[in-house]
Amino acid sequence: MHVLILGGTAEARRLAELLAAGAVPGLRATTSLAGRVTAPRLPPGDVRVGGFGGAEGLAAWLAEQEADALVDATHPFAGTVSRNAAKAAADAGVPLLALRRPGWVPVAGDVWHEAGSLAEAAELLPALGRRVFLTTGRMGLAAFAALDDLWFLVRSVDPPEPPVPSRGEVLLDRGPFTLDGERELLRRHRIDVVVTKDSGGAATAPKLAAARAAGLPVVVVRRPPVPAGVRVAATPEQALEWLARAGRGGR
Ligand code: NAP
Repeated sequence: MHVLILGGTAEARRLAELLAAGAVPGLRATTSLAGRVTAPRLPPGDVRVGGFGGAEGLAAWLAEQEADALVDATHPFAGTVSRNAAKAAADAGVPLLALRRPGWVPVAGDVWHEAGSLAEAAELLPALGRRVFLTTGRMGLAAFAALDDLWFLVRSVDPPEPPVPSRGEVLLDRGPFTLDGERELLRRHRIDVVVTKDSGGAATAPKLAAARAAGLPVVVVRRPPVPAGVRVAATPEQALEWLARAGRGGR
């Protein structure tokens, strides 16, 4: 049995590791990466890099490579590839599972402002602060580029490309982050508002605890929905159970 894992997340890597260790006997995995990051953390097993050419290209790949199952373990905000996966799986007749880590939930002391998009987050900012810690990644920063009165600490894995905010600094770094590190960052840069996607997971959550401790507001960008009708697993272990069932002819 052959499974294609659409990757780019820690959960996708973990699933590939479990499968490489023989968690589902007789199952071989290929992980696909978009190729956005210059030095990605590679999972074990077969890896392919680059787009497929939309849903049609992905459906053709699934047929050519005789894939028996597809796990969309992409980032919760990678909406296009997830929509493509749903269409391609339906067209190719391949069972699909979305592996999505749960989103974050506010706790006592959090001051969260929800936004439906990066553009909406940018609209909220001027009323919330002057010095912004922007942690939404290097894509889509154009949404903040016109906010000339605000100063931005932009954190991303690879350097962002213009248009980007005119005032501020870029910090190239990749999680996991620590609470002490995040608190120090907020203090050193005199941050008064944080912007994040609702990415979920432990690796980047310390910024939320640091903001809470400092009493800072956080603008949280909501996730796009998982395509209708697609089954969702919250952990790599749940995905394994689904794969084991799929291997026995169940779903
Ligand atoms: P996207 O907007 O949903 O996808 C854009 C295009 O990139 C897709 O149409 C597809 O090209 C290609 N692509 C995306 N993921 C792919 C994969 N795993 N394998 C092969 N091709 C892929 O995605 P994105 O937001 O740019 O994210 C790109 C990658 O970075 C994803 O794999 C995601 O897991 C990871 N990532 C994203 C974020 C985020 O915040 N968006 C954060 C961390 C990691 P074709 O149409 O040509 O197939």
